[in-house]
Amino acid sequence: MITENAFNNPDSPRGRILDWLTHHSSWFIAAYVGLSVGTWLTDSNWLVMPALVVVIAFCGAVTVTGLHQELTRICLACMRELPEDAPAQAHRRRWLLRLWHIWSGYTAAPVLLVLLVLPVAVTALLPPAHTGLALAPLEIWAATAASSQRIHHRLRPWCPWCKDWGEDGDIKEPSPDPVNHDSLTR
Ligand SMILES: [Zn+2]
Ligand SMILES: [Zn+2]
Repeated sequence: MITENAFNNPDSPRGRILDWLTHHSSWFIAAYVGLSVGTWLTDSNWLVMPALVVVIAFCGAVTVTGLHQELTRICLACMRELPEDAPAQAHRRRWLLRLWHIWSGYTAAPVLLVLLVLPVAVTALLPPAHTGLALAPLEIWAATAASSQRIHHRLRPWCPWCKDWGEDGDIKEPSPDPVNHDSLTR
């Protein structure tokens, strides 16, 4: 309840920070991708601390975004981010929306387990300067999952896999009419 209140109080500094984090999560994803690529190319010690900070910030942003999606009524930034051609985008990006449902479901657990164990198995086989590559599959998975989470949040009303705004279908809400959406954003 306290968490839910925090996510639904845009007048409080905490509420504004949570909304800001959600709607700027692409910066955290970009930083995470940049740092990950850096660790693939070199094993420099100086990268360890920045990488740790970026990973923590990335995980925080993904968690806040997930909670925003679950707990917040649509905020102003949510409405501003609704694309003009949302139904067409949802159709074009069906695979990404589907991916989010796969990533966020139980079926992803075995994949995640393999991705976590893989680095332990392959690190010894990699050149000493590029052992960071062992984490590449896990990092690509994490960045793709975070991107699909972000896209899914924007296009959720048109997502074919959560038409009822809930996996179990207990929240019945029709997809917004694209004509109404037009009047919202102008
Ligand atoms: Zn929002
Ligand atoms: Zn969906």
